[in-house]
Amino acid sequence: MVDLETLVSLCKRRGFVFSGSEIYGGLGGFWDYGPLGVELKNNIKRAWWLAMVQARDDVVGLDAAVLMNASVWRASGHAETFNDLMVECLENHHRFRADMLDGASACPECGSSLSAPRPFNTMFKTHVGALEDESARVWLRPETAQGIFVNFQNVQQAMRKKIPFGIAQIGKAFRNEVQTGNFIFRDREFEQMEMEFFVKPGTEDGWHDYWRDQRLAWWQSTFQIGAGRIRIKQIRREATTIIGPDPDDVRPEKPPHYSKGNYDLEYKFPMGWNEIEGIASRTDYDLSSHQRVSGKELAYFDEETQEKYLPYVVEPAMGVERAVLVALFEAYQEEKVRNEKRVVLKFPPALAPLKAAVLPLLRNRPELVAMAKGLAQTLRPHLMTVYDDTAGIGRLYRRQDEIGTLWCVTVDVQSLDDRQVTIRERDTMEQVRVPLAEVKDRLLERLR
Ligand code: ATP
Repeated sequence: MVDLETLVSLCKRRGFVFSGSEIYGGLGGFWDYGPLGVELKNNIKRAWWLAMVQARDDVVGLDAAVLMNASVWRASGHAETFNDLMVECLENHHRFRADMLDGASACPECGSSLSAPRPFNTMFKTHVGALEDESARVWLRPETAQGIFVNFQNVQQAMRKKIPFGIAQIGKAFRNEVQTGNFIFRDREFEQMEMEFFVKPGTEDGWHDYWRDQRLAWWQSTFQIGAGRIRIKQIRREATTIIGPDPDDVRPEKPPHYSKGNYDLEYKFPMGWNEIEGIASRTDYDLSSHQRVSGKELAYFDEETQEKYLPYVVEPAMGVERAVLVALFEAYQEEKVRNEKRVVLKFPPALAPLKAAVLPLLRNRPELVAMAKGLAQTLRPHLMTVYDDTAGIGRLYRRQDEIGTLWCVTVDVQSLDDRQVTIRERDTMEQVRVPLAEVKDRLLERLR
């Protein structure tokens, strides 16, 4: 597997990911996604939405506000308990997350003594309106889930949904992480894709296993993850166990404050096994807290059985940025082609930021250029397509391989006579000659 530094450099050079506020020296934990990064992210989000909402009869979507009434976070427990234990180096005053030092008592940077651990709330604070006092205080959401819980009744009633059903959401979340790092793995601003699945109490364990299996299968098929690089970490109050490879390589954890147990999906990054998705069994923790604090009844009435109850919740929650990393690590390959190194991102077709590149073999022939530009324009409404004539054809192919473009379509002198062009396939580098008029349908057919 490629090392992180190589990937970071490719991401910057080719327009996937830039440091946030770079010309001012950056801002730790914030990243900007360039023209290719935004396409990759959108494709990942689309794949998730397709699997979690569009393809299902029992899940609907939502887009809730980032800022919410402060009572939401008091009720949810985040104001009290969304803390990391932090230690500070007494010498250089750098701060670290205590649980990431694996029990070490000296500063990992300079070896000096560390302070005693103390809790640090990782929610960002701000104010709403002109007053900056305590009454105007709000928090940036550290998870999208609460927007779903407080809208449970709105959605259930508006859509006439019967339990079991789910509400899915994609949106930004913010955490003032004590320690960021590993490129985009741990950020202070990131995007979550979360789905709260509301079930009848007593049925949650079956649904928890169901969603574990669904989500694992989604990761495997969407990113075509190689064998041995994804596993399940089961986190219960009593014990942490691994289902899958490297069972002895495990950092024990306790379930989060809202969860009776978690299945975390972990991916084998070059820096070790790390969480990419958490599937939590949240019981009625959130709905009962909101019911208590808001004074509004949130129970569900089952018409068939005439029972009234607060639903239990199973929640698959993942971060888009970690999925971007997985997509890049899985796609990156170096090959030897005619004694030259070829770097190619072999993204699965649905994830590839660009589907087609149209390249004229000669850029000083106006008819050729016009034909190539015309073809690119024909493809654009259907497929992400670029036109490029800024180098020789060998260089142009290498550039497209390095960003994972599925097909290069080349227009040459002969095309002017026979109105045929060459399609080159990214992975096999095979070339076929096809009529210009058929390019769009052929590519769409292959993409399907
Ligand atoms: P970690 O243990 O790595 O801090 P977490 O257990 O706090 O993560 P959850 O609260 O379960 O994470 O959030 C669900 C998902 O959101 C995670 O699996 C991850 O993909 C993503 N996520 C959480 N925090 C961050 C972050 N700081 N940067 C990027 N993604 C994040």
